[in-house]
Amino acid sequence: MNEKRSAPPAKPNSRRSTGQTYSAEAIVAAVFAAVKENCLTEDVVREYGFEPNRAGFIRCPFHGERTPSLKLYRDRWHCFGCGEGGDVIDFVSHLFSLSPLDACRRLNADFHLGLEFDRPPTPAERDKEQRRRRAREAERLFTEWRDQMLLQLDGAIRVANLADFTRLSDAETLALRWREPFEEWADVLSHGPLSEQMGIFRKREEVQRLCAKILSPSSTRSSAA
Ligand SMILES: [Zn+2]
Repeated sequence: MNEKRSAPPAKPNSRRSTGQTYSAEAIVAAVFAAVKENCLTEDVVREYGFEPNRAGFIRCPFHGERTPSLKLYRDRWHCFGCGEGGDVIDFVSHLFSLSPLDACRRLNADFHLGLEFDRPPTPAERDKEQRRRRAREAERLFTEWRDQMLLQLDGAIRVANLADFTRLSDAETLALRWREPFEEWADVLSHGPLSEQMGIFRKREEVQRLCAKILSPSSTRSSAA
């Protein structure tokens, strides 16, 4: 098991002359918090060579196994096989047999966090970290939306492709009318330039409303002939 996280003994205070004194414990706490804020579990395991499956599991490096049973959550992990678990710092300290603080140093270096370990981050550094975190979160949300949108567009295009022309339903009529833009949007979202993807994102409400109209259960025709 890991050693308990505890602050190292306070160093002789060399900062007294500047009037800036921080306890070693406060600094270590700030480092732990900053590392956890900036390193998502999934990014960390990928960095160290693991490939999560679709359900967010990897094969546990802490006990021999063939079927992945270590589940990744946003900011922690748990192995249903051996019962190990914790946050990213625990994972890295476990994986490389490092103390938690050295695990933070390693993450700091590998993820270019720019943390200094002998003082807490300045407000400017904290702002920078926060902006980086927000940008990453926005990117994640956008990717999630795009995957969802692609599924809906595919569904709407399928309704058009399978339309029964002898008795067109409202949904089929709408799907046929919009098939071309749907195909174009799906194309852009799959491999178009980001600027064009953002263009679709900006009018997402309209696109989603159209797809929802076509795909809503009440508008699909019963398949019974
Ligand atoms: Zn395990």
